[in-house]
Amino acid sequence: MIIDSFGRRFQNLRVSLTAACNYACTYCVPDGKKLQAQSAELDGEEMARAVSLLVDSAGISRLRITGGEPLISPKFDNFLRGVTNLGLTDIAVTTNGQFLSRKVPVMQETGLKRVNVSLDTLDASSFRSIARSGDLATVLDGIDQACAAGIKVKVNMVPMKTANEDQVMPLLKYCLERGIELRFIELMNMGHLKRNQMYEREFIGMEDLLSLIRNEFEVRKADAPLDSTSVRFEIPDRGRFGIIANESEPFCRTCTRLRLSSNGHLYGCLSNSKNYSIRHLLHEPYHIAINELQGVLRNAMASKQRLAFTGETTVMKFIGG
Ligand code: SAM
Repeated sequence: MIIDSFGRRFQNLRVSLTAACNYACTYCVPDGKKLQAQSAELDGEEMARAVSLLVDSAGISRLRITGGEPLISPKFDNFLRGVTNLGLTDIAVTTNGQFLSRKVPVMQETGLKRVNVSLDTLDASSFRSIARSGDLATVLDGIDQACAAGIKVKVNMVPMKTANEDQVMPLLKYCLERGIELRFIELMNMGHLKRNQMYEREFIGMEDLLSLIRNEFEVRKADAPLDSTSVRFEIPDRGRFGIIANESEPFCRTCTRLRLSSNGHLYGCLSNSKNYSIRHLLHEPYHIAINELQGVLRNAMASKQRLAFTGETTVMKFIGG
């Protein structure tokens, strides 16, 4: 197992099942083009084999299936079935929720317990201008159906100054009323945002967000696990929410994440475009693959930031947000 001088080791794997997405969110998809996959994406079996090898060689115990949009991939059902037998302690899915209701049955069948739904607004018109696709009512119905099926739902919102700051309180209240934890993700300076003014114009930091919420609620800091990426807060008698404060309270020193892109490249850090292909290993005999992975994992670990997210031109949807 690879452990670096900060004591970091890989425990959490994020797999981008496909880079294709049925949305084209303004902060994620550079040119507004939907449904663009990577060239030469791994098939479902190769993906499941990669996860299995990483469980054995890197000590991965938790898996998040993401993308792109994982629920539009024809690989989703079989991949989910395949990884449920690997002895992982936790499997979760991150989705925009558009196809959630139709995937609830396979999630139930495989015993999937957790889903994060990305939802930046409850207003149908700003929904269309941020996601540039999709239907808000369908997403809300998907959330209801997942909750009714006993799947634990969290909602992820990227708050932005001009695009959806007015939706912070409505979304927080929507989540509190349903016992759903809302997690605000500070806008990250990635992909095309590195090359235009959007990041500077739209970024809302943790303190500004907390001031906004404190106008209506008492907010207390709550405990969070050591390697948690979110700072947790409690609103007494109402519920909890979290802030993934990439900028305001970086979590690089305790980051245990590893990412596998849909075309079979490992990334040790969101803030570093260095990546290492493992495609050629997926058809090797087990002992050869495991052996070679050690070198790859050492390189991936060395590419982790030491202190803070510094921004990167890599696009989130390609490497698994
Ligand atoms: N399609 C799925 C979804 O919408 O949840 C999974 C992929 S999406 C890339 C995963 C997460 O990354 C979403 O919650 C999205 O809001 C977030 N994201 C993408 N670009 C981001 C950025 N520049 N800053 C912060 N969050 C970002």
